[in-house]
Amino acid sequence: MSSKCPCGSDKKYESCCEIAHKNIKTVASAEALMRSRYSAFAKADIDYLLQSWSSKTRDNSKRFRKELLDWTTSVEWIKLKIVSTTKGTGHFATGTVSFEAYYLENGIMECISENSFFEKEKEYWVYVNAL
Ligand SMILES: [Zn+2]
Repeated sequence: MSSKCPCGSDKKYESCCEIAHKNIKTVASAEALMRSRYSAFAKADIDYLLQSWSSKTRDNSKRFRKELLDWTTSVEWIKLKIVSTTKGTGHFATGTVSFEAYYLENGIMECISENSFFEKEKEYWVYVNAL
């Protein structure tokens, strides 16, 4: 078993996305937040997925929580590819990350291809929606 981070950074999980999962305020950019969300899907860290989701677009229902958990544990996460980013760093309050997330579902390779919008809410980056 590799202890490399699921996000594909080549670092160990403990020195990569686990730092974000323990404290979202350490995440310095929209891209880093996207990576940490991918890792949270791979690790079925539902608390983090909801914490890193904008309060404007987040579904707080128990039903959604369960659906998210059921789905993310039913697939095998393969890899994340960051295609491009805009802003999302330093003094910017918003940013976009275009990515491809690959996973196996029922033995078939699937890909989520999305250009996501992120913004700073309070003191940290959150996912808002797909553009
Ligand atoms: Zn990582």
